[in-house]
Amino acid sequence: MFKKRALTLNVSVFGVFPVQLHHNMHTSHLPDPDPDAETYMNFMKKHCCYDAIPTSCKLVIFDTTLQVKKAFFALVANGLRAAPLWDNKQQRFVGMLTITDFINILHRYYRSPMVQIYELEEHKIETWRGDSFQNVYLQYHDQCLISITPNASLFDAVYSLLKHKIHRLPVIDPVSGNVLHILTHKRILKFLHLFGGMVPKPRFLKMQIKDAGIGTFTDIATVRQTATLYDALSVFVERRVSALPVVDEDGKVVALYSRFDVINLAAQKTYNNLSMSMQEAVQRRQCFVEGVIKCYPDETLETVIDRIVKAEVHRLVLVDRGDVVRGIISLSDLLQAIVLSPAGIDALFS
Ligand code: ADP
Ligand code: ADP
Ligand code: AMP
Repeated sequence: MFKKRALTLNVSVFGVFPVQLHHNMHTSHLPDPDPDAETYMNFMKKHCCYDAIPTSCKLVIFDTTLQVKKAFFALVANGLRAAPLWDNKQQRFVGMLTITDFINILHRYYRSPMVQIYELEEHKIETWRGDSFQNVYLQYHDQCLISITPNASLFDAVYSLLKHKIHRLPVIDPVSGNVLHILTHKRILKFLHLFGGMVPKPRFLKMQIKDAGIGTFTDIATVRQTATLYDALSVFVERRVSALPVVDEDGKVVALYSRFDVINLAAQKTYNNLSMSMQEAVQRRQCFVEGVIKCYPDETLETVIDRIVKAEVHRLVLVDRGDVVRGIISLSDLLQAIVLSPAGIDALFS
């Protein structure tokens, strides 16, 4: 069934080749009762993960004996954000390596700009995963790869991403054991945006953000532009947020620094200097997004969804007319509100 489409898997493996390769205020107030409220939920239930995967994609798999530094360089070299981890002894996938892991490693082992991060230079992926600190984090994911099958519904994929608070969900063919693709919130919302036009447009799309209450509006994690990059990494680690609005002394947003941007440190080999200011970190990074992609409380949900899909970013920064940060509307919030809430499921905040 999964061979029908020309699926070009460009699989590079680093290390030993895996033999298996054959294969706060979070309430959303959608109108109630709203006859259209279930439109997107039903759309997601009717379509399967296979429908949302591209005809061709690049996939990299890392063996757990590979050195962590080489693994992150390989992500950069291949323009990728994450890779499944293969344990050759156990002959199974044991997890993912993402930019969050790079952040955790830097934050855990960084000492000063004068001292090389020995652990980054020398550790293998399996050494890092065996670290007692990291184990605390891994317990959360049960030392397993969270995955989904190609014929599971997109509704289930959204549920899994939100429930496990992850951003990468590998689609694995249950017969061959092959990873076919890594689904993300972005890919799923884009699919809905492209093909959701086939179903009647729900009325709730016309609601203003301030009334819909979709997003986080209190206790927003931000970072001052005068703070150090290490400070920002600390916030990523402690708050587990996916991005930080960078603000000036008046609380006005001047940039957006996401976890993804941290991979620039590997690309530019500047990870030994985490004492640089956020202003410098923002200037140095290679970023394809111009300025900060924002939204305002009186804009409609439809406008927000169009903007976030077009900009291909994971969140919009909600600001007032003075550019002061008032909230974050991320793809997780949107998918929770339009797909899971109508089913009575609160995966994001449970
Ligand atoms: P990022 O936003 O940096 O891509 P994630 O939020 O997806 O990272 O990852 C958070 C943590 O969860 C990381 O330690 C990562 O290795 C782990 N993780 C991510 N996806 C999965 C998955 N599908 N199965 C198991 N662990 C995962
Ligand atoms: P991912 O694909 O891993 O989810 P992100 O969407 O978080 O990645 O980030 C991709 C790039 O887009 C990063 O350089 C990040 O700084 C930028 N970016 C993300 N969100 C915004 C935003 N709201 N405004 C400006 N730039 C953004
Ligand atoms: P995300 O990890 O971006 O998919 O978002 C998960 C949840 O965290 C969502 O409810 C977001 O609104 C919230 N969130 C994301 N970034 C921040 C931030 N900087 N401060 C506070 N909450 C955030």
